[in-house]
Order: sequence, then C-alpha cells, then structure tokens
Amino acid sequence: MNQPKKVSIIVPCYNESEGLFLFYYELVKHLPQEYSYEIILVNDGSHDNTLDTIKNLHSQNSTVHYISFSRNFGHQNALKAGFDLCTGDCAICMDSDLQHPPQLIPELLKNWENGFESVVTKRLDHDSISVFKKVTSRGFYRLTNRLSDVKLENGVADFRLLDRKVVEALKNFSEDQIFLRAVIQWLGFKQTIIEYKAGERVAGVSKYTIKKMFSFALSGITAFSVKPLRFSIYLGVVIAMIAFVYGVYALVIFAFTDQAIEGWTSILMSVLFIGGLNLLMLGIIGEYLGKLFIENKKRPNYIVSETDLPTR
Ligand code: UDP
Ligand code: MG
Repeated sequence: MNQPKKVSIIVPCYNESEGLFLFYYELVKHLPQEYSYEIILVNDGSHDNTLDTIKNLHSQNSTVHYISFSRNFGHQNALKAGFDLCTGDCAICMDSDLQHPPQLIPELLKNWENGFESVVTKRLDHDSISVFKKVTSRGFYRLTNRLSDVKLENGVADFRLLDRKVVEALKNFSEDQIFLRAVIQWLGFKQTIIEYKAGERVAGVSKYTIKKMFSFALSGITAFSVKPLRFSIYLGVVIAMIAFVYGVYALVIFAFTDQAIEGWTSILMSVLFIGGLNLLMLGIIGEYLGKLFIENKKRPNYIVSETDLPTR
C-alpha cells in the first residue's frame, strides 16, 4: 500500500497553556484519517506553562512536536519557524485558540487534493468578533491595499494550507518582520480562498495588543511598498506650489502696498504647518531607513532554544 501523504500542522502558542489541551483534542477530532500527521506546536517565549503543556502532549502523542523560542519573537516568526522545520507534503498553520475552526481542515485538504497549492482562508465578520477588531481590521486592509503593491483580501487570516512547493519557496525569505499574508500572495502559485466563521477564543486573552496591531500594520505596509515615500514627494510638490503662490502674493503686498507687517497669523500658521509636514515626512523616511538598518544586520528571524525536530 502507498504511504499516506503527510500533513504538517503548525500552531504558534504564546501564553496559551489554559486552552491548549482543549485545542489539541478538538484538532485531532477533525483530522481526516487518510493522512499521516505531524503537529508542530511553537512556543513563542511564553511566560506561563505553555512549554510544559506542549511537552506533556509530546510525551503522550508521537505526532506532536515542539519548537521553543528563547524569547517572544512574535506570531509571524513562530509561523516561519514551523514552515522552516516541517516535513509534510503540505503544511497547515492555525491559531491555538480555536478561532480558526479545525472543522475547516478537511476542506483545506480537499482543495489541496484538487490541485491548489496555497489555500487561504478568509474570516467572515460576525458576532463573535468585537466591533473594535472588525473596524481596525477593515481599516488595515483598506490602507494596506491602497498603499502597497500587493492586494490582500479583506479578512485573510493566518489560517492556510501551503503545498510543499510553496513552503520551500517561503524558506528563502529571511526578511525582518516578515509579513506572511503578503509574502504568500506575492509568491503566487495556484491559490484559492475559502471562507469561515471565526469562533470565540476558548481561553485566555488576545495577544495582539493595540500596540502590536499598529506595528503589524506599519510593517505590513512598509514591507511591501515604497508608495509612502513617493507620497512625500507628491505632497512636497503640492506644498511647494502653494508656497510659491503665497510667496508671489507676499511680494506683491510688499512692493505695492504699505501693509507688509500684516499677516503674522498666516506666517505663523504656515511655519507650523510646514514644520509638522517636515516631521511627518522625516518619520516616513526614518521608518524605511530603520528597516534597512535592521535588515542589513541579517539577523535570524528567531532563536530556537529547544526542539525535538531536526534543525537544518
Ligand atoms: N501568538 C504568538 N506570538 C505572539 C502573539 C500571538 O505566537 O507574540 C499566537 C497566539 O498564541 C495565537 C495566535 O498567535 O495562537 C493568534 O494570536 P491571538 O489569538 O492573540 O490574536 P487575535 O486572534 O486576537 O488576532
Ligand atoms: Mg485569536
């Protein structure tokens, strides 16, 4: 008989010890029998018992493997580590809080069997997602699409299946603050999107604080586009034109009237305005410069402190 195809399931966990057992049993309930599995739990520098819980699962089940980081490197890097070390014919990544329903896995696999090499999922907005999350996430996609060169569907999640080919292509990426959604879109291959309803978080709280979401959005935009830099040129040109017209006006007042002292308010306002604008544009340039600086160090995306998987 043929060897069954191997599926890797990659799950980043950051302070998730509370819900992890529940997640695991819910997950295995929905895995189709005809495949063999490798479940990789990535401990992203948790401060609670997550690692012990993972090791506990590992000692009881030979399909469970673990990668543990030396500190918190973030969700995207945890996913990257999973893709780097997995050995399956395809890999599925999902959250450990059951917001990505394991019931969808058979459908992901079906699409893969039908020839799709990357099966992306898209979250349908509904009641279990907070209004705040809905609004910020919609705003994020709108802004990213407007400002960057990669088009993302509204609500695409880090819940997806990638064929071995895509995983191999992904391994070549080592950019800092990797933004997987956009990178996978950029890679191409045969893609399809399926929709799902997100469940409630089973335990614990969301690890994406507002600060993390903001930095995620900023790196998503700047990693994929130099449009914000160009934007500063356009804005600069417009402001320069206004300044020119205003300069002519000021000259006319000076040359042909005796009211030259007037206009203190307008001068003050334009100085403040231009000053603010300068700072904004410097900030944009600084953001890219900082990126270059970090990138130039070529640091690894993450540091593994222990794992039972063979490292490269
Ligand atoms: N996560 C992680 N490192 C982090 C933050 C989050 O590995 O620094 C994991 C977390 O354990 C979960 C997934 O990423 O499995 C999604 O995080 P969360 O559910 O907190 O985000 P939300 O669903 O609220 O966007
Ligand atoms: Mg969640």
